[in-house]
Amino acid sequence: MRTCPIVPPARWSSVPSSWAVGAPWGKKDSEVIVVGGGPAGSATAALLAQAGHDVLLLDRARFPRDKACAEYLSPATADALARIGALAKVEAQGPVRPLGMHLIARGETRALVRYPDGQTSRRALCLSRRVLDATLMEHARSAGVRVLEGWQVHGVATDPLAGAGVEVRPVDEPAASRRFLGARLVVGADGAQSVVSRSLGLDRPVRWPQRVGLVTHVRGVGGLEHYGEMYAGQGGYCGLAPLPQGMTNVGLVMDARAARRAGSREAAFEAGLARLPGAGARLAGAQRAGAVRGVAPLARRVTRPAGDGFVLVGDAAGFLDPFTGEGVFRALRGAELAAEVIDSALCRGDVSAASLAPYARARRAEFAAKEAFCWLIQGFLLCPPLLGYALRRLERRRRSVDLLGGVLGDYRPAREALRPGFLWALLRP
Ligand SMILES: Cc1cc2nc3c(=O)[nH]c(=O)nc-3n(C[C@H](O)[C@H](O)[C@H](O)COP(=O)(O)OP(=O)(O)OC[C@H]3O[C@@H](n4cnc5c(N)ncnc54)[C@H](O)[C@@H]3O)c2cc1C
Repeated sequence: MRTCPIVPPARWSSVPSSWAVGAPWGKKDSEVIVVGGGPAGSATAALLAQAGHDVLLLDRARFPRDKACAEYLSPATADALARIGALAKVEAQGPVRPLGMHLIARGETRALVRYPDGQTSRRALCLSRRVLDATLMEHARSAGVRVLEGWQVHGVATDPLAGAGVEVRPVDEPAASRRFLGARLVVGADGAQSVVSRSLGLDRPVRWPQRVGLVTHVRGVGGLEHYGEMYAGQGGYCGLAPLPQGMTNVGLVMDARAARRAGSREAAFEAGLARLPGAGARLAGAQRAGAVRGVAPLARRVTRPAGDGFVLVGDAAGFLDPFTGEGVFRALRGAELAAEVIDSALCRGDVSAASLAPYARARRAEFAAKEAFCWLIQGFLLCPPLLGYALRRLERRRRSVDLLGGVLGDYRPAREALRPGFLWALLRP
């Protein structure tokens, strides 16, 4: 990435009518404010700071903090971490590096998906998000980002000329202590319930899928050193991922109505597991090592990922479902795309929607085929007998299952798996 000098403070020339009295249009606390210090926010902030920009990163949590996630990161995530300059720091935390995953439908049919790449084999990366996210935030700090932990953002307004205004409050101070921070541009990296996208009126309703994700850690599950396991059945699925120190992540996704009927997270988790053939038996004898954490709803959509004075990255820019395991990769790759466009826009002194428009185009080029592939997978998940049938065929067709591994691993273009030949390999008797 090219570096450029920090642009001198702009003359704030207009105030959007939507913004409350007291907005900071006359002051600039930072060139860029990043809201959210998960993988998307920390990576974007680090890249912009490395490019010479003045960046302030705000997160309502204090790190290390937990995040409900199945903690199985696709092999290409390591490539993205390397480009961001954080791979060595993440590897120093001792992640488990599985060679692939067993896909198991209805407890009976299996296919082993590995990650072959030419002469070598790639590996996924499994590490608790508590450790991963704290490591990435530290990486941002060491790149020169100013970080405020325990600061919650309550609202955002932007303007093509005046820039961005963010309403914030330290979480342990009373409501009256809200204050405004000003910047040339705000990055919304505040995850699935993004306040940035909501404040800017960008959220779109999602009618389907309506699912919840429930995650916990257990001990005492053997045989996961080399391969994760994914159990799919009617109404949901459950992944087992190996973590350092003998821990296993159990990530369950189930229908939101069924989860509500169960009454509590714990009860929903037990009910969901009981409905998945094979998964409950596999976990018999495992000892729980933490509470069940949840995310609902899982899917989110936005009208656009960038506009006058703002950019959305990571889950804030949209999310479908964790089955295909690319969330953290998308957060990091999205951060790279965002940082490049933001850097150019800041250097031009123009943060208007037109100036930031290349970001939406870059995201489409990067992610559209994988999104289409994820929808295709959703079709198979709706019908476990069809999934079982396809897995039986895949197990006999090595080239096709290797292609599936490459696409799920985010290192082969997803469009290859959208070709009729691949679908034929899944369905032909
Ligand atoms: C059940 C489940 C399982 C998953 N499993 C996997 C998996 O195995 N592999 C994978 O790659 N992906 C998985 N994902 C997806 C992955 O977790 C996300 O895609 C990823 O966390 C996105 O990173 P992010 O930085 O955009 O958001 P987040 O990681 O959610 O970070 C957002 C940050 O913003 C902060 N924040 C939120 N609101 C505010 C506010 N108002 N003010 C200040 N700070 C705020 C939060 O505290 C948080 O630190 C899973 C998701 C779910 C729900």
